[in-house]
Amino acid sequence: MSCANLAKGLLDLDVARARMIAAAEPVQGEALVALEQAFGRVLACDLAARLDMPGIDNSAMDGYALRLSELGEQGLPVVLRVPAGAAVSALPEGGCARIFTGAPVPEGADCVIPQERVTLDGEGRMHISGEAKPGANIRRRGEEYRAGDALLPAGATLNAAALAMLASQGFAEVPVLPQLKVALISTGDELIEPGEPASPGQVYNSNRVMLQALLEQQGCNVIDLGIIADTAEALHEAFVVSRDSADLVICTGGVSVGEEDHVRPVLDALGGLVFHGVAMKPGKPFAFGYLDDGSPEGVPLIGLPGNPVASLVGWQLLARPFVQGCQGRTVGPLQQFNVRAGFSRRGNLGRRELLRVVLDWQGGLPVAFLAGGQGSHMLRAASQAHGYLMMAADTDVEEGHEYPYLPAGQFVD
Ligand code: AMP
Ligand code: MG
Repeated sequence: MSCANLAKGLLDLDVARARMIAAAEPVQGEALVALEQAFGRVLACDLAARLDMPGIDNSAMDGYALRLSELGEQGLPVVLRVPAGAAVSALPEGGCARIFTGAPVPEGADCVIPQERVTLDGEGRMHISGEAKPGANIRRRGEEYRAGDALLPAGATLNAAALAMLASQGFAEVPVLPQLKVALISTGDELIEPGEPASPGQVYNSNRVMLQALLEQQGCNVIDLGIIADTAEALHEAFVVSRDSADLVICTGGVSVGEEDHVRPVLDALGGLVFHGVAMKPGKPFAFGYLDDGSPEGVPLIGLPGNPVASLVGWQLLARPFVQGCQGRTVGPLQQFNVRAGFSRRGNLGRRELLRVVLDWQGGLPVAFLAGGQGSHMLRAASQAHGYLMMAADTDVEEGHEYPYLPAGQFVD
């Protein structure tokens, strides 16, 4: 998108995202944790394989192991039985072995025939149907990787498959980076917590539970500072407390330019603003800066918008990659592909717009439809959307035309 289309004073979304990624400093330190406690944690160093994988030549099927050269019209007697866990044996000449998945292929055998293709005659000799190829259904020792080969790089997130792989290599513990400590502040005199009785005009705090969930899903240790009043003094105090207890401070609300919006002036007073305002809808009032704690840069602060959907989008596109960088994780590019719009809509002046959409796959190719109301306070559509249709500034959506689509699934890992 050309910057000429951007509303004045707002940073382009790609530029803001690149700045957030570049600003992220990985946490220092390392701890050994049990595999069972390592889900979602970030690997602190490169890990190499301890063992060949697989460790032995073994059968990929339940079936019969044999020497192909000995297979003839008369079949082969079954002279050996090899279950998984058996010691490696040798296949006597002129015979075949009953074998099971994962069992060591006896020395001398060069092929496993799946049991579905085998018949046994009255004398117990095995005959096969179809072709048999040398090496078929044998998983060779080290065919996946050898001891010493690279397994996982530093910065990898330990997902379930990664943990399973480490378990398969006999690792009981794994070196991980420390969890990022994130202080969470909700600002707004109108806010009350769910469970409390609401008077007219009061608003239940929906950002806190949302961001707590998103941060925890990211593997962060969340320090919740609750609801802070809309005064410069209260916010100043909350920023100082959180700066002294966390690696990162995230607050929501109070980040526009109204008289009740104290984030920017307090940040200016306590440290420094890096940028404020991004040309996106929702999510325009986004602020990033540092709270001075005497260290060279200070403690980073992210000010997310108060409107819940704006807060969510600001998190997904800007705060999340920063958090990942601070966690020592590698941040991938945004995943997007074109999909057809099933609706028309007027474009937005000067800001890129992320429309909450659902995909309909009934025609074979996906077609995007609005998931519901698109206001930045409208959580129902956001909670049901499959992703975003990303509209360039000043561009109308025309039914039947294609636009970039960002699947929401990429923001969950
Ligand atoms: P603000 O940015 O503080 O002006 O807030 C913008 C809008 O978001 C207002 O309607 C607020 O009531 C609403 N809002 C702010 N914080 C929250 C929150 N934590 N949960 C739900 N709504 C909020
Ligand atoms: Mg407010």
